[in-house]
Amino acid sequence: MFHYADYYQATYILIIGMILFLVAMAITYKHASKRKLKTGIIFLSIFVFIFGGYKIIMCKLKTDQMLQEKLKQDWLFEKYSGPANIQYKDYPPIYIDSNADVLNITVASFKETLDNTPKWLYKNASSITLTSQQYLIDNFERDKDVMGCSFFPDMTVYTTSHATSSILEHEFGHIYDYNFFITFNQNHQDIIPPDVLISNQNAVCEAVSESNSFEHCMSSYHETFADAMALYVESPNKLPPDLKAWMDSLPK
Ligand SMILES: [Zn+2]
Repeated sequence: MFHYADYYQATYILIIGMILFLVAMAITYKHASKRKLKTGIIFLSIFVFIFGGYKIIMCKLKTDQMLQEKLKQDWLFEKYSGPANIQYKDYPPIYIDSNADVLNITVASFKETLDNTPKWLYKNASSITLTSQQYLIDNFERDKDVMGCSFFPDMTVYTTSHATSSILEHEFGHIYDYNFFITFNQNHQDIIPPDVLISNQNAVCEAVSESNSFEHCMSSYHETFADAMALYVESPNKLPPDLKAWMDSLPK
């Protein structure tokens, strides 16, 4: 694959090549005695000037474009240094903890995930905080490989900077569950969910086991529903058809 530096070099080679050619043509023209030859040299020089000039411009444009792409790629992997509070479109505000180890690409992927999340799923979340794993362990009594959590008293979602898009959708699934009483009742106590979720628990947990923990998914119906919601948003074809049909019928 061509690197931008190759195009950079090619631009200079073309410029030097064209200058040398035109100088050679000028010398030949000076020493030529036949009129036909002189006319030929003029036409050839004009052709090379126009064609070579076009090639040089195209090469320069390509160099600039590749350089821009390279700078953007470099920027994506730099540490995030923007505002700690991001209001992106009408999504819940994103807060970034200073100890969250966030890169520009982390924020860019979060925005992309939000753009793929249906409004009915995120609308009850009040904010999203990108924080460190240690913060979640210390404040929410989570285990050491926690990637995200939802805090129901104020409907906030927390994820680490290493969380995948399905973890964010999973946390939105918990918030949805809490507001629409799938595995909770109005008093926010655990309830037995609809049969369709119970009978498909194993299938849902198998489907997410490639990226998430099968055991965690099986640990409660809250977790199974949240994982089913992440699948519903990202890979609905992996849901058993009866579960998918039930989720289609849920309030949106
Ligand atoms: Zn969960």
